[in-house]
Amino acid sequence: MAAPFVDTAKITVRSGNGGNGAVSFHREKYVAAGGPDGGDGGRGGNIVVEVDDHMSTLMDFRYKRKYAAGSGADGSGNRCTGKDGEDLVIKVPLGTVIRDGESGEIIRDMSDRTPFVLCRGGRGGWGNQHFATPTRQVPRFAKAGLPGQSREVVLELKLLADVGLVGFPNVGKSTLLSVVSRAQPKIANYHFTTLFPNLGVVYVEEGVSFVMADIPGIIEGAADGAGLGHDFLRHIDRCRLLIHVVDVSGSEGRDPVADFEAINAELAAYSPQLAARKMIVAANKVDIMEDPTLLERLREHVEGLGLELFEISAAAHQGTRELVKRCAQELQTLPPVTVYEPTYVERPPEVDTSGQVNIQQYDDTWVVDAPWLQRLIANVNFGDYESRNWFDKVLRQSGLFDKLEEMGIKDGDIVSLYDLEFEYQR
Ligand code: GDP
Ligand code: MG
Repeated sequence: MAAPFVDTAKITVRSGNGGNGAVSFHREKYVAAGGPDGGDGGRGGNIVVEVDDHMSTLMDFRYKRKYAAGSGADGSGNRCTGKDGEDLVIKVPLGTVIRDGESGEIIRDMSDRTPFVLCRGGRGGWGNQHFATPTRQVPRFAKAGLPGQSREVVLELKLLADVGLVGFPNVGKSTLLSVVSRAQPKIANYHFTTLFPNLGVVYVEEGVSFVMADIPGIIEGAADGAGLGHDFLRHIDRCRLLIHVVDVSGSEGRDPVADFEAINAELAAYSPQLAARKMIVAANKVDIMEDPTLLERLREHVEGLGLELFEISAAAHQGTRELVKRCAQELQTLPPVTVYEPTYVERPPEVDTSGQVNIQQYDDTWVVDAPWLQRLIANVNFGDYESRNWFDKVLRQSGLFDKLEEMGIKDGDIVSLYDLEFEYQR
């Protein structure tokens, strides 16, 4: 059986945790009390997604579904900052759309070669070197690093091509691509050869070229149990122009008009937009045509629909120049390849604030530790008003301030939460 063609994958990614800050004091002979010199924790590694032009499927994600970046190292004495965690780079084919695993919303369309940071690593905790103030000369505390983010995403390959070839298996799509471009797709007189999409650049003339995609045929997967169904059609979603290849030779006992309509029905079932896409018909294998009435019936049918038909023999390189020239001309009038805009809206995560809280008092400073607080702070973007508001609300509702009151906190004291410090006001 042919290898299944993989064009979607669900993966879990996790950025690295930030390292912890250190508590340390400078020690030197004859110097009684050195200043605090605990270094900061390193930043956790990011998850970065990058386009790899040598990839054309999401096959690599079939067996590896979990990706984690490195964690930052802890800080140490002598103001030594811990090493940052290593970024993890995930390589994907051009045209991969990244969606949120839960909502399906689009996070990013990898349709250009700009690397994308999918998950930021946690910030490192500050060492006690940062916490000396005139009234707090001996800071005996440092901060833990913040956790990385974890998220589930769906990768979906939607190739970037100007022209997409559609048609039944064995009608000559791969052959056509191979003769008009330098792509070398698998060609065989066998219905299940194209299980991977192939892309080729078609040079029409000086300065005029376009990208053509040959994709697995509609019934190939269904017929051999690979279950492609309509899945492959996602690849031509973005094509600006379709070439519908029809075998008019009669050599396989096929009826060209019935074939043509069957494919169009598949397109329409998948997406009305796709069914409405500009289409040119290529009547192929005219070199071995036995019954010219098949071609004439197709021509009448197609032209009746207002579409253009080209008679070609891909194998004999007949009529293919005219066909690609016409495509290039048509492309000039068509809108550019679709790039999907992000639809994903960041939602504040649910943070369960009922867990244990550890409060330590150092003079006028109240240092608060709690796993839930760590998660909360890791998710706040302090540059963003809404995010700060959300943080404030969750904090108030958590009952933390009531607890601090009970322990005797006074107005003007410092509340210290990981990499955040503020003056307490009732
Ligand atoms: P695809 O499944 O649509 O990609 O079809 P292929 O390109 O793999 O071609 C299927 C078979 O038809 C192969 O044996 C090709 O050599 C043959 N073929 C393709 N185009 C022509 C043509 O114009 N004339 C003839 N005689 N055979 C062709
Ligand atoms: Mg093929």
